[in-house]
Amino acid sequence: MRVKSAFLALSALLASGSALPQGTRPAPSTKFATTAEWLKDVDRRLTAESTLSSEAQWRFDTNLTDANEAIANAASLRYNQLMTTILAESTQYQGTTEDEKRQLDLIKLNGGIPKDVAAQKELTEALSKMSSIYSTAKANGKPLDPDLTEILATSRDYNTLLDAYISWRNATGPLIKPIYTRFVELSNKGAVDGGFKDTSVLWRAGYDMRQDDFTAMMEKALQQVTPLYEQLHCYARSKLSEIYGKDKVELDGGYMPAHILGNMWSQEWGGIYDLLIPYPAVQPIDTTAELKRQGYDAVKMHELSESFYTSLGMDELPESFWTKSMLTKPTDREAVCHASAWDFNNDDLRIKMCTVVSHSDLMTVHHEQGHLYYDHYYRKQPYLFRSGAADFFHEAIGDTMQLSVVTASHLKKVGLITGNVTTSPEQVINAQMAVALDKIVSLPWTYLVDQWRWRVFAGEIQPDKYQQEWENLIERYQGVKRPVSSGANDFDPGAKYHIPANTPYIRYFGANVIQFSFHKALCKTAGHTGPLHECDIFGSKEAGEQFTRMLSLGQSKPWQEAMKIGTNGMFDTVDGSAIIEYFAPLLEWLREQNAGKKCGWGSSRQPGGSKPGNGDKPGNGGKPGQGGKPGNPGSPGSGKPGHGKCPSKKY
Ligand SMILES: [Zn+2]
Repeated sequence: MRVKSAFLALSALLASGSALPQGTRPAPSTKFATTAEWLKDVDRRLTAESTLSSEAQWRFDTNLTDANEAIANAASLRYNQLMTTILAESTQYQGTTEDEKRQLDLIKLNGGIPKDVAAQKELTEALSKMSSIYSTAKANGKPLDPDLTEILATSRDYNTLLDAYISWRNATGPLIKPIYTRFVELSNKGAVDGGFKDTSVLWRAGYDMRQDDFTAMMEKALQQVTPLYEQLHCYARSKLSEIYGKDKVELDGGYMPAHILGNMWSQEWGGIYDLLIPYPAVQPIDTTAELKRQGYDAVKMHELSESFYTSLGMDELPESFWTKSMLTKPTDREAVCHASAWDFNNDDLRIKMCTVVSHSDLMTVHHEQGHLYYDHYYRKQPYLFRSGAADFFHEAIGDTMQLSVVTASHLKKVGLITGNVTTSPEQVINAQMAVALDKIVSLPWTYLVDQWRWRVFAGEIQPDKYQQEWENLIERYQGVKRPVSSGANDFDPGAKYHIPANTPYIRYFGANVIQFSFHKALCKTAGHTGPLHECDIFGSKEAGEQFTRMLSLGQSKPWQEAMKIGTNGMFDTVDGSAIIEYFAPLLEWLREQNAGKKCGWGSSRQPGGSKPGNGDKPGNGGKPGQGGKPGNPGSPGSGKPGHGKCPSKKY
């Protein structure tokens, strides 16, 4: 989906010449006798306004007209105003029960807007300007999407790639840097006004644990998966060195040039799968032909996915899904095709997707329905709890199911692999490589973006070091290097959507890690024996019941508790061990390929790469009851309401 922040809605209104909305800092309304009564009213108001806002945004995303856009922006603004009103009211109430305290804490996370009206306006305009520069930027006349993205993924010419990589950075970073510098000051001002030390503290306040523990937990998870990433890096480096030459891709501890990995930020390497495929002659498992032969269409694909969930004992999707979703690309109007899942409250759940009959879209369908099942099961919670247990939960639900669905044994069960097909070890390695180039390669990247940003907001990285520290991070964690040195005006962070759009990023890291933990725990409950990558939980009512108990909680309990329930006590942290177990065949294969090579990069690396981290287990202390329900500008939210789920990390 299009990630359109609340800021942008406000900006659009400002740009249209309207004055700052009335009531942005309203006086608290009538006081209720008890906190419980007030929260009940909050629930009623937020539910009503978010439904309106979601409906307006849906109408726009499924029919892109200027009129629909104006209505959607106005509705989004009304929702933000309401949240600001509620935030102001909240100072009059104190929670007596855990639930009340938790809801009050969740409301506070919507702080982060400066109280001063001039600062508020400047902040909004800064964000609007940055987003506008980013979304309209062209490098040598070419936009990022699709032109430059396509070049990075398909060109194998070193200089063509270099030109696309550098010219995109030139077209964005230097223009965005001065605005971003000021934005950081204003954003921190808002965080302070909202009762937080700075924006980095606000962003990490929603995880039911002390922020240092949160940071340490993520670092530990990264260390756990680093051996696998280093092996992938080592293997890719020697392949690319053969292709581009040793003068371009230095072996033995060298960094890879960041522009030849198939992606503008080297964040996923699927674009160069053809260069890295372990067994080029081996046919991949791809059900596209079979889906077509059996006459599948969009509806049938969604029914097949639903039957996976119902096999676990889960409910059928509500009627609204079948009557109100947009499952195919409209022929009579423009619409946003990026797949997304939407919750209109009261079990009105829809998917917007231009479904194509293909293997990859079948996987996407299972992913999107994961969002709807989460929405469905927590529908009875109050509005403030109708969210993922933490912001990295929602994207992990459908992905967990995919790990079962992609197994050959599952595809055979549902008739998409016919005949007496056995999966060869070569097919397994090819398939694991394809998944790893996306899910493993993205881990250091999804980790480092907010490492940089937290330190920027905390004042540890000053503007004159923005670029250098960014480069240090990509070198340290990704083992890649900017192919040419940067100058004083360069600002590569500005060349990545989520920096100018101010969208938090660590959630993508968390989601990628925990889906493997969920898979492992559900497989155990389903009675699976054998390698983790062969497990299919299809048909296990026990696994379904266990997962459903977690889904039903929404955000009403600390995510660690929810995770414990969903994994039957196996996990209560973000832990990378299940990833290593899942990718055991690939890791072993890579180690054979890399034998005798000096893996790792930079001066601190040793031959063979680093060992998994063994840092202290992070505690789960800290205050309960926080999580990021989005809404207001400055809040670390994920774009609800009216934006559907599935914010892309790609652009
Ligand atoms: Zn999603």
